[in-house]
Amino acid sequence: MTEQKAVTRSMDNLGRVVIPGDIREALGWGIGTKLEVTISDITVKTVIIREISPCCSLCRVESENLMKVEKGYICPLSLRLLSFNFAYSNSNFQNFCKYINK
Ligand SMILES: [Zn+2]
Repeated sequence: MTEQKAVTRSMDNLGRVVIPGDIREALGWGIGTKLEVTISDITVKTVIIREISPCCSLCRVESENLMKVEKGYICPLSLRLLSFNFAYSNSNFQNFCKYINK
């Protein structure tokens, strides 16, 4: 994509700003896309809006191997942890680590 021409938008009374449709389309952003908003430089009042990659709902790792579950995702390691805990419900975390490191 080539550099975008700057667009001016006003914030509404709830603090919302509409991201122009051509920018949303270029970035593949749609309804439900999770965005992170952070202050980039407070002295010049600049923020960064970036897309949040899907991450594991349990350990927050970002991975290409996430499985979609209900409203979130789970990584293979967390899935193994859950499976292990179901299979050996009275085991502790040390036993889990031994199992994973085999
Ligand atoms: Zn995980």
